[in-house]
Amino acid sequence: LTVLGLESSCDDTAAAVVRQTEGAEAEVLSSIVHGQTELHSAFGGVVPEIAARAHAEKLDICVVQALEAAGLTLSDMDAIAVTAGPGLIGGVMSGVMCAKGLSAATGLPLIGVNHLAGHALTPRLTDGIAFPYLMLLVSGGHCQYLIAHGPEQFTRLGGTIDDAPGEAFDKTARLLGLPQPGGPSVEVEARSGDPKRFRFPRPLLDRPGCDLSFSGLKTALMRMRDQIVAEKGGLTRQDRADLCAGFQQAIVDTLAEKSRRAMDRYLDLSPADPVIAVAGGVAANSAIRVALETICAEKGTRFTAPPLNLCTDNAAMIAYAGLERFRTGARDGLDLTARPRWPLDKTSPAMLGGGK
Ligand code: ATP
Ligand code: FE
Repeated sequence: LTVLGLESSCDDTAAAVVRQTEGAEAEVLSSIVHGQTELHSAFGGVVPEIAARAHAEKLDICVVQALEAAGLTLSDMDAIAVTAGPGLIGGVMSGVMCAKGLSAATGLPLIGVNHLAGHALTPRLTDGIAFPYLMLLVSGGHCQYLIAHGPEQFTRLGGTIDDAPGEAFDKTARLLGLPQPGGPSVEVEARSGDPKRFRFPRPLLDRPGCDLSFSGLKTALMRMRDQIVAEKGGLTRQDRADLCAGFQQAIVDTLAEKSRRAMDRYLDLSPADPVIAVAGGVAANSAIRVALETICAEKGTRFTAPPLNLCTDNAAMIAYAGLERFRTGARDGLDLTARPRWPLDKTSPAMLGGGK
């Protein structure tokens, strides 16, 4: 099966071709991503209206480039997969309209994909792992522990009750005058910082379960920053690095402890071949990857994390998730709608893992 995937739910316009032949591992034949960072840089965040217009302009270019890079044409495709939510509605609509146009013109089946399923299934694309597995999905808008049972079957063990870590990284960068996206800039600064100089809170660690909270971190950071500015008139490079290191360490420690708990709950279900996976944009963070890898080694479970370019938004994950849905017989019609909200665990089998 060969599937063309389209992604436009936030500020990356992307198209990709993924192929999987019977019994073999899936292969990314091409993956084109056009970021919009410069378009939004003056506004300190993604402007939905600007994003939607840029997606509408760039989508067909991405499709042409993805097909070209794969050395294929539309007639070689078996289906067209597109992110149908969740995300910024204007952008999602741009992608869905483009995919419908391609489907109507070629007669190829249309497959709507949940963006979060794209992230959550990526470890199967990159590492060929089998269902079930425990997944930490950690991104710009989400943070949750999921047991993945099938392409559309997820049980949620817990997650953030407020901000997502990606959001917290982005806000931290903004508060310290570092460039967006904040994750990579904060990670780089943190490397030359002392994580112990500033003591950030570790919210919800005293409570049982795997729920997380990150909104307190930015308040703490703002207070620390303002105090330094009040005392010394401004931030030095070292202050900034130390703040980033302290902030990142708080995220790492919180995720590490909650991941331990999620793993214990998962291992209690006695899966035959336990595998722990991480995906989503924040999974590109090496401190987080190392922390999770260490816990998995302690617990004797296999750990897998996709390469960095498949952690952040891309269309290969959408093509792959579409391929998985296609194989189960799923098809969408031209009445496919764009959804701003679309939780992953709606279809969870209630008897497995306890759910929410
Ligand atoms: P969602 O998938 O929840 O809808 P999104 O698609 O906007 O949100 P992703 O593309 O999956 O999010 O991830 C983007 C986020 O990942 C941004 O917040 C960015 O700062 C963060 N990120 C990227 N690289 C890193 C890194 N090295 N360290 C920490 N965070 C990172
Ligand atoms: Fe994403």
